[in-house]
Amino acid sequence: MVLEKEESVSLVPLQSREKPRGCAGCNRRIRDRFMLQALDRFWHEDCLKCACCDCRLGRMGSTLYTRANLILCRRDYLRLFGVTGTCAACSKVIPAFEMVMRARDNVYHVDCFACQRCGLRFCVGDRFFLKNNMILCQTDYEGGSGERQ
Ligand SMILES: [Zn+2]
Ligand SMILES: [Zn+2]
Ligand SMILES: [Zn+2]
Ligand SMILES: [Zn+2]
Repeated sequence: MVLEKEESVSLVPLQSREKPRGCAGCNRRIRDRFMLQALDRFWHEDCLKCACCDCRLGRMGSTLYTRANLILCRRDYLRLFGVTGTCAACSKVIPAFEMVMRARDNVYHVDCFACQRCGLRFCVGDRFFLKNNMILCQTDYEGGSGERQ
């Protein structure tokens, strides 16, 4: 199961009469004048970092993304999990978390990646061909009036 969330980060002043809170990143008490609040927890400004590029999320603007146990900046989140695109076979959007097949610039649902003439599913290592943006198996490609690409 995938846990995926966009969270806002807020900078909150530490109230002097409040007893210091533990940082969710390093578990040490937060004694700074400001701390970050995100994911229902509190963080040192230095401790809330992107798991990928280490940038400080408190400084980057005000959004972070979580996925499974990762905390990511927007850029890395989109790079890793961003919406993949539209399936070139069925024209429906492919959600970011789905496995996709890629051929040239096209992406496909795994289920849609089959010869569009005979329905043959490809296995790893099988050859497939693209003609007029249609996926074809070798038989259909060679059987058709195939101009080579
Ligand atoms: Zn900390
Ligand atoms: Zn990052
Ligand atoms: Zn599709
Ligand atoms: Zn075929």
